[in-house]
Amino acid sequence: MVDTLLTQDPYVKVALNVPLRATFDYKIPKALAYRHHIRPGMRVKVPFGKGDRHSIGLVIETSVSSDYPDTQIKPITALLDDSPIISQELFDLCAWAARYYHHPIGEVFFHALPTSLRKGETADFRTETWWFLTEQGKTTDIESLKNAKQQKAFLDALKQHAEHGLSPHLLTVFELTSAAAKGLEKKGLVRSEQRSFIKSVETHAHQKQVPPTLNPEQAAATHAILAMRNEFGVALLDGITGSGKTEVFLRAIEALLKDDKQILVMVPEIGLTPQTLRRFESRFNTDIVLMHSNMTDRERLDAWLMIEHGQANIIIGTRSSVFVPATRLGLIIIDEEHDASYKQHEGFRYHARDLAIKRAQGLHIPVLLASATPSYESMANALQKRYHWLKLRQRAGDAQLPQMERVDLRGQSLKQGFSEHTLERMRQTLERKEQVLVFLNRRGYAPTLMCHQCGWIAACDHCDVNLTVHKRANKLHCHHCDSHKALLHTCPECHSTELFTVGEGTEQIEGVLNQYFKHTPVLRIDRDSTQRKSALTQITQKIHEHDQAILVGTQMLAKGHHFPNVTLVVIMDADVGLFSSDFRGMERTAQLITQVAGRAGRSSKRGHVLLQTYHPDHSAIECLCVQGYEALAMSGLRERQQLALPPFYHQVVIRAESQQEQQAMSLLMQLRNQMSVHLSEEMQIVGPYAAIIVRKAGQHRALLSLKSPQRGNLHRIVALASQWLEQNTKNHKIRFAIDVDPLETF
Ligand code: ADP
Ligand code: ZN
Ligand code: ZN
Repeated sequence: MVDTLLTQDPYVKVALNVPLRATFDYKIPKALAYRHHIRPGMRVKVPFGKGDRHSIGLVIETSVSSDYPDTQIKPITALLDDSPIISQELFDLCAWAARYYHHPIGEVFFHALPTSLRKGETADFRTETWWFLTEQGKTTDIESLKNAKQQKAFLDALKQHAEHGLSPHLLTVFELTSAAAKGLEKKGLVRSEQRSFIKSVETHAHQKQVPPTLNPEQAAATHAILAMRNEFGVALLDGITGSGKTEVFLRAIEALLKDDKQILVMVPEIGLTPQTLRRFESRFNTDIVLMHSNMTDRERLDAWLMIEHGQANIIIGTRSSVFVPATRLGLIIIDEEHDASYKQHEGFRYHARDLAIKRAQGLHIPVLLASATPSYESMANALQKRYHWLKLRQRAGDAQLPQMERVDLRGQSLKQGFSEHTLERMRQTLERKEQVLVFLNRRGYAPTLMCHQCGWIAACDHCDVNLTVHKRANKLHCHHCDSHKALLHTCPECHSTELFTVGEGTEQIEGVLNQYFKHTPVLRIDRDSTQRKSALTQITQKIHEHDQAILVGTQMLAKGHHFPNVTLVVIMDADVGLFSSDFRGMERTAQLITQVAGRAGRSSKRGHVLLQTYHPDHSAIECLCVQGYEALAMSGLRERQQLALPPFYHQVVIRAESQQEQQAMSLLMQLRNQMSVHLSEEMQIVGPYAAIIVRKAGQHRALLSLKSPQRGNLHRIVALASQWLEQNTKNHKIRFAIDVDPLETF
């Protein structure tokens, strides 16, 4: 043992995976201090809670002193890592995120780690047993083993793979047993070796594709991005659907790979990872890993380790991949940057795009935001020249942008939501052996079940909403708390059997279309039809197999899928967002319509889009159809500026929920009174107000909104508020959440 302490400080401050904003002090036992240099970013096991319970924590800092008397401080039980498991850079990012989002620091750090590491497992590649010939084995004749069939087969196979040995994978392939191997080991003919498992990236024997020649807009964008290498900057690749944005980032990636950099490509949802992976594999001969929530804990840890050890050069991942432990990052790409799923909507409510930008700033590398419908936030940043605005306004190849046409529904007789004109256009399209896509952002059979005799409506027991009818599953389902019950056939109020549905969902539309177009396959894409893991792939395969087909679906259709033979898109209800009480309602609707419309005519055939609307002259609908998304966004931004809304004002929403009515509301009322003395003049405080759906999953919900043109002041107030809330909700059954830069304010 050395006689100097490797860790000088007697205390550590530890972050635990608990919803408290504090860190916790522990003593470092002398024995540990002699043997280890304890540093921030190492995991420790510490006593926490009642009895002899323990938790895994992360060292935030070592310290000479503590605010507590030494006798009250418990010692660390064990040190789990020899060196920090996260780099200084990621450590700083997490610490910053905890401050910025006013979220408990332990939960932030633990969110950034793969589940296995949160549980305390070692941060090592798993090992596996490989088999090799010994000198004796090399000279032994396999015929001498003819009485031991399995051993003979094993030795035979091993002799054929003498050079590289046999991996567990090959054992399975050749149907060999490890019992045979052990037997041979006893005879001294073979030996084993433990090798660390590095997920052998399947070398996909894809024919590498020859990249197309870039058009001038693409070439200019690629050039601009590459000019930003090695410095921080944000580029907004604002390109209409099918303009070849992906091609631009493939070029940028190609150049950065040559510089030996790692590239992080973020996509909004898991469903898009296989598609993105295939496209990348067909281009690059390099190790690509995926990072998303549909992987097992072990798979995630393997991917995490591969990235950390620099064995993966391209990382494709969803929201949480912003925390990947890459050490040679050269570029972060955020595809479909407008997508709301980059924001976590519960717990640690971070926005992965914004964190990625923060991370890139620390690393002095560029970020590329790509979208056909950029968020108003990013548009504003581009307008103010904080982002490089790279526009692609031509479709790549010979494809043309689809024509947008309004279908006036006023006074029309509708057939289950379709106008006669719409149906006729669908018929014509199918006759040309082309495909139709029908978009309706409402899944299930119908949004309402009603009694003809007494007017009773089926409502959720736990939320203030109606239950959705799912006929095929024979259920009434709440889309807000996920509870469901059997579909009723008699009214629980008056016992009448005359129950009827109101409105249409995708399940009903699928049935209707099956009747109208008997000889055409109708395929539904929504959350219900794609629950099984491979369902979406199967459906898209079917779409590619048939010439004519009708696709019916929800917003899942809007997300980057490529259906080359779709030439007509029908938007069943273009009016949804027009009168929304959410100030982002119009932005969302415009993004959705533009993205869905963009599925039409992606190859050489021109596409058409029909927007069914009762408000064909509404300025927003007209602007979108005639001038397009950018023009609508510009007028939307002017409106936001006049109304002091984000992105011109910064916003924080404080939410509270309680089982008892009014409790959440009165808590926020008290908070508002507490805060009022601290408010500066430019600050706007609204509420507390009840959520639009007041009761959800049995909780009564209220909100308080704070806005300011200056972030600094806003954050000072929110820091005070969070302290006050933590203290004043301790003994009540009230939960609160702080939502910085919220996407939902209702
Ligand atoms: P986006 O990402 O903007 O939707 P993609 O990069 O997927 O667009 O391109 C759309 C289609 O056009 C793809 O099939 C792609 O291979 C093709 N493409 C892209 N750039 C070119 C180009 N310069 N010349 C010909 N085809 C191209
Ligand atoms: Zn009734
Ligand atoms: Zn419910």
